[in-house]
Amino acid sequence: MQDTSFDMAMVKDYEYKIFWTISDLCNFHCSYCYRDKTAEQYYATKKYTVGYIADCFNKTGKSWLILLAGGEPFLMPRFLPLVKELTKQHHIQISSNLCSDDVFEFPDYAPPEKVMVIGASLHVEQREKVDPGFENFIEKYHFLEQKGYRVLVNYVAWPPLLNRIEKDFAYLKSRGVNNVTAFTFLGNWNGKYYPDSYTEEEIAMITRLSVFNGEEDILRRRTKYKGIPCEAGYKYFSMDIRGNITQCNSIKTGYGNLFDDSFKPDLTNKKCIAEECIDTYMGEFLLHRKEHFGIRIRNYLRGVDKNKT
Ligand code: SF4
Repeated sequence: MQDTSFDMAMVKDYEYKIFWTISDLCNFHCSYCYRDKTAEQYYATKKYTVGYIADCFNKTGKSWLILLAGGEPFLMPRFLPLVKELTKQHHIQISSNLCSDDVFEFPDYAPPEKVMVIGASLHVEQREKVDPGFENFIEKYHFLEQKGYRVLVNYVAWPPLLNRIEKDFAYLKSRGVNNVTAFTFLGNWNGKYYPDSYTEEEIAMITRLSVFNGEEDILRRRTKYKGIPCEAGYKYFSMDIRGNITQCNSIKTGYGNLFDDSFKPDLTNKKCIAEECIDTYMGEFLLHRKEHFGIRIRNYLRGVDKNKT
């Protein structure tokens, strides 16, 4: 059994990474979700066989960490056969609300050593309507952990939840759910933009509840890396539901389509041109550290980065 504790820096162990949004659809309707709820119901597995999809990754000649995001991945037709094919030559990460009972079949399709982490999204507002006490969610967390997966519960620090977040974390810990992290909310609520509108006390609390060292940078929007060489476009990409590939989630320069054989990656790193990196939990790990350090020092001297230790 692998060590089930999780550190985001683990992502650096995987050379080639792709963030694949496999659907826009979800059974939950969270107030803070940025997905288009009117999106067309499209899944790559309706158009292509799972073998064909896996072959498209295999033909690149790289071993990928495929970050499967949605929407809710377990709603995708043939999702389990797809992860079975993908994990023959690649590693995956999934983010799921764990509503589907197919979760109990997941170990039959993807071995723990091929899964970097299962992000278990606890969407409190919606979850409480169908799962009082989060009983079903907690059962699935323990099931997956006992099967040897790293499971990290993600809790979005949405402003209406800030008065209960610490209580919810304590409750989860009391139920043996030990890997839990707070995510910064990015968006508008009650006429105010977040993270800019978090108070200092809220920033301190969310930073304390997050397992990610860079959470305070996200809270304070210190994710501006313009000019720093980044692996996006070379070793990291973002892909949409139809296989269209862009440099990252922040820069929409096209790199072709994985499923029609037109994907063409760069041959080296290139400097970030985005005003702000919204590949929040990845950007930091794609940068060329040496030059990054130089820019951090320059920013510090210019007063841009004074709070960073
Ligand atoms: S730092 Fe972020 S925005 Fe810039 S290229 Fe890399 S992933 Fe894209």
